[in-house]
Amino acid sequence: MFDLKGKHALIFGVASEESIAWAIAKKLHAAGAIISLGYQQRFKSRILQLVKGGDVPVELYERCDVTSEDELTNFFGQIERPVDILVHSIAYANPETFGQRISQVGQEDFATALVTSSYSLIPLARHAAPKMSPSASIMAMTYLGGQRVVANYKLMGIAKAALDATVRELASDVGPQGVRVNAISAGPIRTLAASQIEGFDNMLKVYEQVAPMRRCISQDDVGDLAIFLGSDMSKNITGQVLFVDSGYSTLAMAELPKD
Ligand code: NAD
Repeated sequence: MFDLKGKHALIFGVASEESIAWAIAKKLHAAGAIISLGYQQRFKSRILQLVKGGDVPVELYERCDVTSEDELTNFFGQIERPVDILVHSIAYANPETFGQRISQVGQEDFATALVTSSYSLIPLARHAAPKMSPSASIMAMTYLGGQRVVANYKLMGIAKAALDATVRELASDVGPQGVRVNAISAGPIRTLAASQIEGFDNMLKVYEQVAPMRRCISQDDVGDLAIFLGSDMSKNITGQVLFVDSGYSTLAMAELPKD
């Protein structure tokens, strides 16, 4: 139904087979897109395994730490094909901050989390700009903790709030060039990044018990929305946060399960 034939997708944020970004790569490829990957050097061996696995033919894979201007320049210098889709699926905070009260977070940890998880969308969009095709689509992965307090999300909640605002500002900035920018707000999914969050298993249980759909979501559900956002069917949607969360974000007061 959604045809991405010939569209070129740059995907940032694959670290393992469980990464949301890898599910997006598989889904976009299945819909006809050509896939290139930018990865963090520490995950190189996993990337090589995934690429050799052959599930997704990868046109170009190259290290790209989004906080390094040199790596960004080198990565985008190698991109020859016009870019139709750019996926930002990146977050990082010092693991120590996950167990820390927000009132105790230091300036350096705050800056690291926000530069990597929020600001990085800006240099990615800036480097991609000369190669972007008209009507290109940029998407970033966010979480409800950027809009409301979610237990144990803490500093990453502030980073996601900044990311959501960055999405809106960028959408306004690049809209006149025909480029759209949106965020996908996914429910909790077991991944490397999620394993840093204290009580993550409880989050899954809460979603299963009280979300309107009474179930958790999968990486593939996010990939399906990414197909839509990458396709021309979403050509007039920009600056939005779209939820894939079994409806959890609609709740203010959930009913406790009866048994
Ligand atoms: P993941 O650990 O597989 O992905 C996180 C990625 O961020 C990794 O690939 C890592 O290499 C990359 N990254 C971190 N710092 C980087 C840097 N300096 N340069 C380049 N890449 C860097 O985990 P995931 O759950 O797939 O996370 C992907 C995105 O989805 C994140 O933004 C996360 O906050 C968001 N998200 C995850 C969930 C969840 O429950 N898993 C829910 C909502 C949103």
